[in-house]
Amino acid sequence: MAKILVSACLLGCKVRYNGSDLKPSNNDFNWLIKNHEIVSFCPEVSAGLAIPRVPAEIQCGVGQDVLSGNANVLNSDGLNLTDKFLLGAQLALQKCKQENIEFAVLTEYSPSCGSNSIYNGDFSAKKKVGNGVTTAMLKKHNVQVYSQHQVHLLQLALNKEC
Ligand code: SF4
Repeated sequence: MAKILVSACLLGCKVRYNGSDLKPSNNDFNWLIKNHEIVSFCPEVSAGLAIPRVPAEIQCGVGQDVLSGNANVLNSDGLNLTDKFLLGAQLALQKCKQENIEFAVLTEYSPSCGSNSIYNGDFSAKKKVGNGVTTAMLKKHNVQVYSQHQVHLLQLALNKEC
């Protein structure tokens, strides 16, 4: 049984910017919950951001650019939240190290948790290819990150490890 870090909002916790969750209900996700040790984590709330909160997006870059100091995370009021997003990413990595976690399932499109696409920075609901800040941090330290739509790929990766 592998230990998997999972975005808290995917587990029914109402921690998203608008106070909602995003719990999937499909066979793959149910398999994940039933067959593995799940560690729930929300980088943004762990970093001290409130629920609800004004939405934030990465401006002019993706998660790796935020890690390298070449892009910022601003909310739709123009407040710079880069430090909070970096703290959330560091806390997620710390959690993985403490608990020997090598796999994560994180919420697609989030500026923290997205792993294939994220919102493009103009608050228009358009997306761009790239990782969120936490995903970039975890991948940099060899944690394998999947979205909630890729649990079947995680399943294949775990089967290979057996
Ligand atoms: S930071 Fe991640 S876990 Fe927290 S609400 Fe956003 S997508 Fe969900």
